Amino acid sequence: MSTDYHKMWAELGLDLKMHDALLNVLGEGYQQTFLTQKNRPEGMQYFDFVMSEVHGLRIKELRDAQAEGRVVVGSFCVFVPEELILAVDGISVGLCTGAEFGFDLAEKYLPRNTCSLIKSAFGFNLSKVCPYMESADMIVGENTCDGKKKSYEEFGKLVKNLYMMDLPQTKSASGKALLKAEYQRFQKALEELSGKKITVENLKKGIEIVNNKRKAIHRLAKLRAADPAPISGLDALLINQIYFYDNPVRFTESVNKTCDELEERISKKEGVFPPDAPRLLVSGCPMAVPNWKLPTIIEQSGAVIVGEESCVGERGTRNETVIEGNSVEELLDNIIERYFQIDCAIFTPNPDRKDHLIEMAEKYKADGVVHYSLQFCQPYDIESHNVEKELEEAEIPVLNLVTDYSAEDMGQLSTRVEAFIERIKE
Ligand code: SF4
Ligand code: SF4
Repeated sequence: MSTDYHKMWAELGLDLKMHDALLNVLGEGYQQTFLTQKNRPEGMQYFDFVMSEVHGLRIKELRDAQAEGRVVVGSFCVFVPEELILAVDGISVGLCTGAEFGFDLAEKYLPRNTCSLIKSAFGFNLSKVCPYMESADMIVGENTCDGKKKSYEEFGKLVKNLYMMDLPQTKSASGKALLKAEYQRFQKALEELSGKKITVENLKKGIEIVNNKRKAIHRLAKLRAADPAPISGLDALLINQIYFYDNPVRFTESVNKTCDELEERISKKEGVFPPDAPRLLVSGCPMAVPNWKLPTIIEQSGAVIVGEESCVGERGTRNETVIEGNSVEELLDNIIERYFQIDCAIFTPNPDRKDHLIEMAEKYKADGVVHYSLQFCQPYDIESHNVEKELEEAEIPVLNLVTDYSAEDMGQLSTRVEAFIERIKE
């Protein structure tokens, strides 16, 4: 970070000592994970810069925007529609956290056997190290898995501005009606928070900005189908993670610029891994910053990740919202159509996810799938058995892993990943 932001962090109420400790760990982890990779696209320099300023310049931008009367809305789930937040000229930021930090504090509120994603959100909040949580004018929680919906009851006592969104659990007509009612209620809450009315014009603008962001990510995803892969899975994951933090227009431009460079690489048959490197998809729970453990193990074992079937990845970004419509209600219906297709494991049943994985394996020429569940995540862990069975039947090898945010199982994970890669090579 080029500027000293301690004054800003103190104003936000961060625990400066803890926060410095977090930034040190993050900085070292980033250096070892990303900057040691060879032959990275030049375009990654932008994303390295964003990450180096993720608690600095970006937070300053949020505060400057707030000073101009704009609102910041933090969320933990890809069901929270960014289009509506942009329509009131708000800024959407992801709050999911991917590090084992403050778990001792979190366990005062949560049972030990809670997934790392939830514990991490509590840990970051209780340790006062997340400038996004402290900056948010509204934090949106959602009734998805049991762990999340029950933990928000406790989380609501820790933050003053928690807004709860109810989400359907079935892809039924009544499920869709619930999503519509909840998005309408969210629309009103945003209008009240921001003092701005959602209109056809500003909602179309919001849809267009998010569609453009998704188009750029789809373009990046398609380019990863090339052999040799022009970008590592780690770098592509990083871009998918930054999707939740950066200014959406600037992000879109930067992704497209990187894609131009990747197209050139592909035309010269240049890649980051040798052409015969095994190609894998990673599927399962979302990987929030700085959860890079499993992708690092996979790519250091010689395989390249060519797609993420995850909410921080294609499950979260696929499908655009139709922009045609003459009323806010029509546009809202389009938004509901798009979001209702998200195949999260909290839905029962959830057959589309397996179909999507088979489609991705074909599209990105993947040799196998690593299924990743966080320990104590019932939706993804239970669903993994069926996903594994159906993919193996479709002759797509699957490695089913359950892990958490700690470094303790890295040796064991490496052994299993290496054995899986050998299986694929045979
Ligand atoms: S996995 Fe499900 S609950 Fe979690 S962010 Fe994705 S859609 Fe939301
Ligand atoms: S990883 Fe699983 S248990 Fe954890 S919040 Fe997501 S769906 Fe819930």
